[in-house]
Parts: sequence; structure tokens; C-alpha cells
Amino acid sequence: MPNPSLPESDRTIITHQSVILRDLQRLIGQANVIGDSCGRAVFEADAYEDVRCTPLGVVMPGSTADVARVLAYASENRIKIVARGGGTSATGAAAPTADAIVVCLSQLNSVMDIDLSNRTMRAQAGITTKALSQAAAEHGFFFAPDPSSAPACTLGGNIATDASGSHGLKYGTTATHLLGVTLVTIDGEILQIGGSYLDGAGFDLLGLVCGSEGQFGIITEATVRILAKPEICRPVLLGFASVQAAGQCVAAILKAGFVPTAIEFMDRAAIEACEAYTNAGYPTNAEALIIVEMEGSMGEISSLLSKIVETAKTYGPNVVRVAQNEEQSAAIWKGRKSVFGAIAAENETRWLDGAIPLGRLAEVMQAIGEICARHGLRAVNIYHAGDGTLHPIIFKKDDSTQGREALGLAGEEILQLCVDVGGALSGENGIGLEKRDLMHVQFTQEDLALQKRIKTAFDPSWLLNSGKMFPLAGRNVAVRST
Ligand SMILES: Cc1cc2nc3c(=O)[nH]c(=O)nc-3n(C[C@H](O)[C@H](O)[C@H](O)COP(=O)(O)OP(=O)(O)OC[C@H]3O[C@@H](n4cnc5c(N)ncnc54)[C@H](O)[C@@H]3O)c2cc1C
Repeated sequence: MPNPSLPESDRTIITHQSVILRDLQRLIGQANVIGDSCGRAVFEADAYEDVRCTPLGVVMPGSTADVARVLAYASENRIKIVARGGGTSATGAAAPTADAIVVCLSQLNSVMDIDLSNRTMRAQAGITTKALSQAAAEHGFFFAPDPSSAPACTLGGNIATDASGSHGLKYGTTATHLLGVTLVTIDGEILQIGGSYLDGAGFDLLGLVCGSEGQFGIITEATVRILAKPEICRPVLLGFASVQAAGQCVAAILKAGFVPTAIEFMDRAAIEACEAYTNAGYPTNAEALIIVEMEGSMGEISSLLSKIVETAKTYGPNVVRVAQNEEQSAAIWKGRKSVFGAIAAENETRWLDGAIPLGRLAEVMQAIGEICARHGLRAVNIYHAGDGTLHPIIFKKDDSTQGREALGLAGEEILQLCVDVGGALSGENGIGLEKRDLMHVQFTQEDLALQKRIKTAFDPSWLLNSGKMFPLAGRNVAVRST
């Protein structure tokens, strides 16, 4: 007798879970299906820990054909599917629902081919970004996208979120390096999209799939470009007495035509937190610092860095540290790379990700300060200054319910601010659950309707990663007026 107090979908779960798990075991082998509650609980959340829900089941396919079998079965039986790579999503994009099967790609983790003459590499989607880069490094090459989560995140996840990192300024996002994918559609069809060359004929379906957050199908393999490693890479650290001077310096460096691999910005709160944690030698008398990294040949690197310092002088840096060797380079990066460790001891934080036009940095920093002060919160600001990706980390004031709510409200206001100044809801982490209901802020109803039509073309019954990316119908979000 079905429990009438449960919604239809929950009743279906209770009635059919064991049948579904048995069918999946039959399709892809018992060892590749996780049905026990402890095993399923491991997949209840991703790095956005606000949402937790044990999925109906978890499958770990061993081949593209396995993925196709699982999706065809899900389609026939109208079962929801959530693709999962490393589960490092910072927006809840890989978080499951109770009525979904998680398809975890971690067993598909091999490098399949490295073609040095064509500078391409083909790998399975579940390989970690770090392992992919290491495989290329053995041949003097590298895979350019460098998310900080590289040891845990996967190639498939990078494609699905169009991931980037500190070096996105020079090298762009994952899309820049993606040549082709094998995509399994919800009805189990295996599509080859793109190839092993740039700019294939026809519609740019690869462009659609890259950044689609598991909404269009499951990527099982991909071909990416790899680049020859530069001879040498060195950073210079510049401290400034104001955020404005640091922002102006970034704009001047870019306007002068330099192509740094990275320009990272940290405000005073970030400098102090990282310095206290790592003793990296950061200038605690500076209101802001930037790290500018250049690469080139041994012969040219000193002159390149000197030119950066010369350009910066107009903005009166109170600290200039040019790395002279590997050890000094590592020391300059040490503080910036330890930011998550530095704030880990804090009670509760929210890590935000938005994008802003480069020239609006100083005013955005001020507005973030005002938003946080209004909600009684503190913020630490880090920023991929070269490409406009903003990462404020805001701290809860206390353990009360109001404290938690304040984090959420301030976060929404800051993301709305990013859009208001001409930026975007996401710098590199995507939309997922976290920003789903803010999509109205950036997109018109017509934009969203078009996006939904594209989603429906790939996934007519909306079984793939459902409930993410698109605002829930009827839910209104207050839009901040400027
Ligand atoms: C400490 C930390 C640092 C981070 N730093 C960065 C950074 O520098 N730059 C950056 O861009 N991001 C960063 N992130 C965010 C995150 O690591 C990236 O979004 C990453 O690309 C997610 O990869 P993943 O394999 O963990 O994917 P998951 O978290 O498992 O999934 C993310 C999304 O991709 C989908 N997906 C995963 N695999 C597939 C597949 N094979 N086929 C189809 N869809 C799939 C999922 O359904 C989900 O929608 C960081 C996260 C953390 C926790």
C-alpha cells in the first residue's frame, strides 16, 4: 500500500529501489553498482556542502558502453541521473536527489593516446586534471587549464563546468583546449562531437556541451590540446597602499600589451590571513597585492619582469619582490595557494565566484565591504585579476540562524552586484544549485526560455541533473537596483 503522505516520486523510490538496483547490476555488473546506504551516503554532497541527500543508487561504469546501457535504462524508466567526476563542484552541481542515480566516472581514468606531432591528448573523462597534466609533462607538454582542485577534479568535470584557473588569463578556459568529446545521450546513443582538430564543420555542438553541467549527456572521453612547456616561469609580487592603485596597475599591465600567465589580486584581509597561516613573507602593510607571473625563455625572463616593474612604478608600489629562482617563485605563490587552508579554521564561510569587468575592481571591493558590513560579516577578497574572476570569501558572524541567513543574503547581493556592474554570475565555478535561482538576474525570460529549449532538445524528459541551473518555476528573487 503506497504511503499517501509521500509525494508520488518518493513513493516510487521506496517501491522500486531494489528493482532498479538489481536491473543496473544485471546491466553493468554487480561490482559496479553501489546500493547499500553507507556506500550511497558517500555521494550525498559535493564540495558545496550546503545540500546533502543520499541518492537512490550509484553506478561506477567501466566503459562508454556501460554508461550507454545505464542511460538507456534510465530513459526508459524515467529515472533521474546525476553525472559525477571528482565531486569538487563549488555550486552543488554534482549534488544528487533522493530519486536519482549517480553515474560516477572515476573508473574511466585512463590516458588513451598522446599525439605529440598534433599536440593532442585523448583521455577518459574520469581522469583527474592533475594526472592528465602529469601524463603530458612526461613529454615536456602541459594541459593548460589549472583549477586549484586539480588533484581531485576530473577532465569530464572540467569540461562540464568549463573550468579555468590562475593561468586562464593567458590560456583561457577548458573550452579553449577542447577538441572533441564522446557524449552519451539520455537515450543511450553514443555521439562523437568535434574531433582531434580545431574548428570542425557544422554547428558548434562542442561549445554547447562545454559548460553544460551534466545537463545534455555524459562525457566519457575527450580529446584536448596540449602545449609545449615554457622554458621558465617567474612571478613578481607588488604591494600597494590602496586597492585602487592595484586595480589601475593591473589595467596598465594589460593595456601595455603584456601577456602574463597570471595576475592574482589579494586584499589586505586575504594578505593577513595567508601570512598568518604560511609566513610567506607577504607585506602586511599593503592594502592590496598583485602577483604577476610571466613566462618565456631563460634569456628574456628578467627583462620581461623588469618591464612589468617599470609599468607598475607609476602606481607607487610599496613592495616589489621579483622572484630570482624557483625557491623564491614558490614562496610568492605559497601564500596565495594556501588561502583555503588559511580560512579553514574559520567557523563557517561562503566562497563566492563571480566575474566583473577589470576596470570596476576598486568600486566592487568597496561595495562588497559595504554589503558585508550591513550584514555584520567579514570578507576576504581574492581575484584572478587578469580575467575578472572574483572570489570573495565571506565569514559568518555567529552560529545563529540569522548568521547563516546573513551569509546567504550577502552572497546573493554580491553576485547580483557582479551582474549589475556588467559582469556575470559565474567566473569559473558555474551555476549548479547555488546560483540557479539567481539566473533571472543575468538572463531575461526569453534567454532562459531559449536555454530550456536547448536542454529539452538533448533531454526531453529533463532527467539529466534535473533541478539545477534553471530557476525553479514560480520562485522570485529580489533583484538589487543600482
Ligand atoms: C578547493 C577548490 C578549488 C577550486 N578551484 C577551482 C578553480 O581554480 N577553477 C575552477 O574552474 N573551478 C574550481 N573549483 C570548482 C571545481 O573544482 C570545478 O568546477 C571542477 O571542474 C569540477 O570537476 P569535478 O570532476 O569535481 O566535477 P563534479 O563536481 O563531479 O561535477 C561538476 C559538474 O559537472 C558534471 N559532470 C562531471 N563529470 C561529468 C561528465 N563526465 N559528463 C558530464 N557531466 C559531468 C556534474 O554533473 C556537475 O554538474 C574548485 C573547487 C574546490 C572545492
